[in-house]
Order: sequence, then structure tokens, then C-alpha cells
Amino acid sequence: MEHAVTLTGPGAGQASPEAVPFFTQAAGFAAAWPKIEANLNAVVDGGKYSHGPLVAEFEAALAEYTGAEHVVGVNSGTDALVLLLRAAGLRPGEEVVVPAFSFVATASSVMLARGRPVFVDIDPATYAMDAAAVPAVVTERTRMIMPVHLFHQLADLAAIAEVAERYALTVVEDSAEAIGMRWDGKHAGLHGAGGVLSFFPTKTLGALGDAGAVITDDPRVAEVAAALRHHGRFGRTLDHFPGISNETVLPGLNSKMDDVQAAVLLAKLATLDADIGRRAVLAAAYTERLTGCPGVRRLPTVVKREADTNPVFYVYLIEVERRDELVAHLAANGVGTETYYPVPLHRQPCFAELGHRAGEFPNAEAACAHAVALPIYPDLAESQVDRVCELIKGFYA
Ligand SMILES: *Cc1c(COP(=O)(O)O)cnc(C)c1O
Repeated sequence: MEHAVTLTGPGAGQASPEAVPFFTQAAGFAAAWPKIEANLNAVVDGGKYSHGPLVAEFEAALAEYTGAEHVVGVNSGTDALVLLLRAAGLRPGEEVVVPAFSFVATASSVMLARGRPVFVDIDPATYAMDAAAVPAVVTERTRMIMPVHLFHQLADLAAIAEVAERYALTVVEDSAEAIGMRWDGKHAGLHGAGGVLSFFPTKTLGALGDAGAVITDDPRVAEVAAALRHHGRFGRTLDHFPGISNETVLPGLNSKMDDVQAAVLLAKLATLDADIGRRAVLAAAYTERLTGCPGVRRLPTVVKREADTNPVFYVYLIEVERRDELVAHLAANGVGTETYYPVPLHRQPCFAELGHRAGEFPNAEAACAHAVALPIYPDLAESQVDRVCELIKGFYA
């Protein structure tokens, strides 16, 4: 049957034909629609719309894709972080080392789990936590370390494992952006107690709304996270919570995944590797065209490791002179961009109580001042990459 909606990208029909939106997956949805529609019909006919059979099917497919022993589907990457921190054993008042440059949920999740985020600066080559900065902030309350894998590559997991071992810290990964990225064959999120994935629409695997998951190889982390997404219900006695047998043992959330999102994600998981391949082609096209362009201070680099690693271009991020003027110039010409991230975490008002100052984390602050993300998604045509690059070159000429 023909679907009732007309699939168009944001701005389609209003913008000029040369407009390049920062993000759309209209063509991707159109291509996957027969499968999505069949899955949606199964949801409607099955009558279970939340945490139902499609969610279980998606969790199994994602376990297969990532190699994770356990996948706990939830309703956002942010909730996944809160549940992961609690399930990995963070106790009130304990400290978690996080980078000063990330999406705000990296650190707010620590507070929501009643811990205290402790910031360190980033390595400018990867935008990820600088493991060498960790020893200076470790105290007797430090319990965990949360590397974030931003944009197209993993944090230095070997250096983080080393520092974590030295100070007996539990590693939890904010791998919200890192689907498809592997370190020595092991998927992001599986290098410590566990990790998360976000299926926010713009992410490499995007839903038709919000969704996320906790992934882990540890059955105890999975069990607690699964209970916490459902009001803390275990429904049985737990070996690792001795003496507790009543059904609701921990104050939990309602963070179940909707079957509508699982229906979409199941269909889109089938083309994920092809989508990742397309992103690589587009990234290479940008790099080729922008190499040597005046005004462009930095193009994305893939840091060489001893381990086998594979970049996945979730975001194509460059650093430029006069960033805000360039953004305005591109916008005036119909090209969408995004600033990841405009404010370093230690300068966000919600973390003011941690008492940080401007200038404390110079690499994080420099990235915030100069970085801009260009459109990259499987629907994007190479002619659109050409147009974006010509506008950038024209601006700096
Ligand atoms: C997207 C993202 C999150 C949050 O995921 P949501 O699904 O949007 O809640 C957390 N951390 C990072 C690094 C992200 O990019």
C-alpha cells in the first residue's frame, strides 16, 4: 500500500534547489519505507507499542551488529547514560572524569545519577579526553572515567585503559555518536563496564524521534539498566543485591523504547554499513576539495593507532578563521551548518556550581571557538559537497 505521507526533507519545497540542508534523511526513509511500513503494521497489529516484540527484535539485531552480549533499548542516549552510570555502580557523591568538550548530556547525566562530573581538557587531534590530564584530577572520591568518542573516531582507549587501571577507575563510554566504530575489532562502548548509543535522528543510525540503548558485555550492568528503564523492577531476588526480594528495589525511570522507533531502526540497520560507506566517500570529497583552503585551520584527521581502528564520519568537523561569519555566509547561501559545541562544558551555567573559570581548558575552548560541522549524510550528493566547498573557498578568497 502507498504510504499516506509525502516524504520531503526539512526545507524541501521552500528552499532553492541549490540549498544544502545541514541534515535530511528523506531519501533514506523513502528507500526503507516498504520495510518500515511492514514493521509498523506488525506493531499496530501486535498491539504492544512500548517495550514490545519489535524492541526485542531490534535489541537482538543490535547485539549482532555491535557484538555486545547485552543491549538494553531505552528512549534516548541521555537516559542510556544515566542508567549506565547507575548500573555500573556509581554512588551519590562519587566523581566521574569527563572531557570539557562534549554534548552537555555527557556531564549532566553524571549529575542526574547523583555523581559529580570532573572535567579534563581534550586532545586537539581527536577532540576526545586527554588521558594524560587525568592523574591531576583523581581524588579518593573518583570512581569512574567517561571517555567520549566525538565526530569520526574513538578516544585513545589504550591510554584511557592504562590510566583507569592505575587509579582503579571504572570505564564507561559515552559512545552515543560511535555506532560502527571499532578498536581492534571491538565495538565502541564495550571497552569497559559499558557504553551507550543514541538514535537521535541526525545520528549515524537515526530514528524517527528519540531512542537510545545501553550496550555492555556485563550481565549485571545489563540487568540493572534493564530494571531501571522500567521503574526499577527486577521481579526477583538478586545475587548482587543480597536480601532484597521485593519487586521495585531501586527508584527507576520510565525509559522504555517505543516499538515505533524499533520498527524504523530495524529497517535502517539493514543499510547502516552502506550508509557508513557513503559517509566515507563524502568525507574524502570534502577533504580533497578543502585541502590548502586559506582560512581553514584544520581538517578532520584520523589518528594512527597501534590498534586497528576504523573512522565513521558521523560528523565532518573543520576548524576555521572567522567561524561565525563563515556560518552566516553559508546560511545566506542556503547551506546549513552546526556548531559542535558552542560552549565548553565547564562554562555551561548548569555546571556553575563546580566552580570553573574561563581559560582553564584551552583546547576545549579553542575547539568551541573555531569548529563548524558541514552537512554529511547519505542523502547528500557530491555536487552539493562541491557547492559547499566553493562557497567556503569564495568566502576566504
Ligand atoms: C547525541 C549525544 C548524546 C545524547 O543522546 P540523545 O539520544 O540525544 O539523548 C550524548 N552524548 C553525545 C556525545 C551525543 O552526541
